[in-house]
Amino acid sequence: MISPFEKKLWLSSPTMHGDEQHFVQEAFDANWVSTVGPHLAELEKTAAAYVGMPYGVALSSGTAALHLAVKLAGVQPGENVFCSDMTFDATVNPVSYEKGRQIFIDSEYDTWNMDPAALEQAFKLYPNTRVVMLAHLYGTPAKLDEILAICKKHHAILIEDAAESLGATYKGKQTGSFGTYNIISYNGNKIITCSGGGMLFTHDEESANKARKWATQARENAPWYQHEELGYNYRMSNILAGIGRGQYMHLNEHLAQKRAIYKRYQEGLKDLPIEMNPYVKGEMEPNCWLSCLLIKPEAMCKQVRGEKEALYVKEPGKSCPTHIMETLAKYNVESRPIWKPMHLQPIYRMNPFITKDGNGRARTNAYIAGGTVDVGADIFARGLCLPSDNKMTQEQQDVVIELIKECFK
Ligand SMILES: *Cc1c(COP(=O)(O)O)cnc(C)c1O
Repeated sequence: MISPFEKKLWLSSPTMHGDEQHFVQEAFDANWVSTVGPHLAELEKTAAAYVGMPYGVALSSGTAALHLAVKLAGVQPGENVFCSDMTFDATVNPVSYEKGRQIFIDSEYDTWNMDPAALEQAFKLYPNTRVVMLAHLYGTPAKLDEILAICKKHHAILIEDAAESLGATYKGKQTGSFGTYNIISYNGNKIITCSGGGMLFTHDEESANKARKWATQARENAPWYQHEELGYNYRMSNILAGIGRGQYMHLNEHLAQKRAIYKRYQEGLKDLPIEMNPYVKGEMEPNCWLSCLLIKPEAMCKQVRGEKEALYVKEPGKSCPTHIMETLAKYNVESRPIWKPMHLQPIYRMNPFITKDGNGRARTNAYIAGGTVDVGADIFARGLCLPSDNKMTQEQQDVVIELIKECFK
């Protein structure tokens, strides 16, 4: 069979509309092409108003925003920070930039996000922890009420990594508005993009100004370059802010497309032994940035993964993420494993990992051992991100669905 996709079908690629170009032209015309200019202030206003936070600071990336959030939280060398375990490493690396130590909190099956029960366990073991770093995976909000209540009880502050979840709501409130410091990303694969960039949200002007100062080399108010603090070159450019302004005009349209893609997968794959990435209905409205599937344990063929490669043995009626990925790739369709949990990453292998029974580090690679479930490792073993590009047509998605069905024959 010849692939019906002449052009590669992407997981999630930028979708431009023309309004972006108009704002970029404005920046060129006025020669505001660097890190100063009116688009920056406008984008900060738009972004903050959208999530419902008082202040936004436009930065060069979501990672830079996370770094400044960790700095605002005052994380000190050697200090423990409770972190989402199953996420992109950009969520947790900034803790290391400040020489803190990540303690990874296992995921739960209802949302694939940080398990409140595991977080509670972590506070029993490390009661003085002050900062919790929470990611909303694939655009599905975490159980924010439970997590915030635990933070409050232990006098810890929450940082929300809402890089993937712009537009998702929890009990009607936008993600990125629950923590003390929160961030979103405008990287090229996110629901809207500035080509690259990020936004930090704060509740007070002082923190926002501090972040803006750090992001522009921490210059003091003096006639010469005067420095009292360590600075960074993290400011967004006014050109990219212009792209962002154009994208916000289409955010609701992108949300509707992403949610429609999720629904079509859910419907098209309903007879297979899989489930879609879950959320708690009535409580949360995901942005469906990426649609993912999880193969039921009894429908998994044998699959083993080393550090850099995977092997599997196909069995009738069964499949595995590696098999589906290879099949889709043959037809020029991109898919990707679930984020490999941080506690399984060589760089973080020595960091503590806490499961809901408080007993995480006992085993690593097995997905069920000693009566404990390592939820993150299990979802990583059985899960897959599906092409979720908002330019994907219904016909193209139907082909993807057929290809996945073939894998289970
Ligand atoms: C994309 C992403 C980031 C990083 O954002 P950049 O803008 O690429 O630096 C951080 N956390 C999560 C969960 C992400 O998906």
